[in-house]
Amino acid sequence: MSGNGELSAQEIIRLNREYTLFSWSVQNATNPVPVSHGEGVYFWDVDGHRYLDFSSQLMNVNIGHGNKKVIRAIQEQAEKLAFIQPAFATDVRGIAGQKISEVTGLKKTFFTLGGAEAVENAMKLARLATGRQKIVSRYRAYHGATFATGTAGGDPRGIPNEPGVPWVRHVHDPYRYRCLFCRDLPECNLMCEMHIEETIRLEGPHTVAAVLLEGVNGTSGIIYPPRNREYWQRLRQFCDEHGILIIADEVMSGWGRTGKWFGFEHGGIKPDIIATAKGLTCGYVPLGATIVSEKIADYFEDKMLYAGLTYSSHPVSCAAASACIDVYKEEHLIENTVAMEPVMEREMQGLMERHPSVGEYRGMGLFYVIEVVKNRETREPMTPQSGTLNEPMAKLAGYLRQRGMSTFVRWNWIFAVPPLCITEEQIEEGMQIIDEALEITDDYYQGD
Ligand code: PLP
Repeated sequence: MSGNGELSAQEIIRLNREYTLFSWSVQNATNPVPVSHGEGVYFWDVDGHRYLDFSSQLMNVNIGHGNKKVIRAIQEQAEKLAFIQPAFATDVRGIAGQKISEVTGLKKTFFTLGGAEAVENAMKLARLATGRQKIVSRYRAYHGATFATGTAGGDPRGIPNEPGVPWVRHVHDPYRYRCLFCRDLPECNLMCEMHIEETIRLEGPHTVAAVLLEGVNGTSGIIYPPRNREYWQRLRQFCDEHGILIIADEVMSGWGRTGKWFGFEHGGIKPDIIATAKGLTCGYVPLGATIVSEKIADYFEDKMLYAGLTYSSHPVSCAAASACIDVYKEEHLIENTVAMEPVMEREMQGLMERHPSVGEYRGMGLFYVIEVVKNRETREPMTPQSGTLNEPMAKLAGYLRQRGMSTFVRWNWIFAVPPLCITEEQIEEGMQIIDEALEITDDYYQGD
């Protein structure tokens, strides 16, 4: 039996739990939904219960579930040529590379299998091309779960696997709501950017290969500087002065999520390298990409590229990427994201007004987060920003699931990151459920 719909919900869960390991979980605490199929912004369990996908799974199914154009492209490519090793050339690889170059403005793509490998190879190529070792990245960031990317992300998820690699240095984040530098000032003072420059000066600019930043920090709480353009432009200038590359991690903030093709576009700069995955194929099949500027591509024209993967440029994945890029354009998904932003803002504002436990919401496009707090004055998070959910947040997450809402709840954050094909009515449907759930955390509120 290969999963043809004959197993009961109970049996699926038993087999999954008995024979497979679940990521980021204490195994005996897992309680997975046995999923059957998906369509648009919804998916169904094997007993027919419908879930509204308000986080696009792991913020990757940007085009929504069950898109026929992408499915057909995968089927056709699998029939024609399911695999050829990466030393060969294929039509789908070349076409996907060209389309990626068009939307990113960079030149060449090295295809990986997912986000961590894309970031890992971005760091590797930056180090090879500059002949320098260090990578500077943010604390509240996630770049993947390999050793090097785990070190690059300063998020606590990396701590149990320390020590990681020795050549990463961390800087603080532009987290205005809890900012070390400006949270009590009326306006951001851009110290978050000056602090990167100062860190690099102290480290020795000649030792730094690249600054690695998410276009908009994703699972670390949808963080971006309030003075976004100035932040990126000052950083770009400083890096150019010192021959330091900028790597934009667009694994999560890329592919229309923020209302532009890529998150860094809000900063009005061009990075030297983009690492991306997720919305590149929207999870239909795995694929990541490390995309480099013409200058870096030229460097490797007469020098060895010390990087490789058996499944680099996998034909089926390249066919899916090519089809996905067409879908973003033909179905006007980025335009829809821009159109839905005011709807998200209106709904979020309503939650802020009705629920004392909402400390702040922030985001752009269809990339939003709600900060649930015990007290609006002190901004104390409803659950500590480490470890597993405490009682109020676990109850809230349980309520969402019971009401048929699937979204990402991490620490004191509720994410609202639906597929980019969502309609106004579907946003309202999701926000209504979150509205009800917040009554739970309001009961634990300790402010006035
Ligand atoms: N970079 C960012 C910004 C991410 O959000 C993620 C995953 O969530 C990754 C990298 C790692 O991607 P993957 O899980 O495909 O390895």
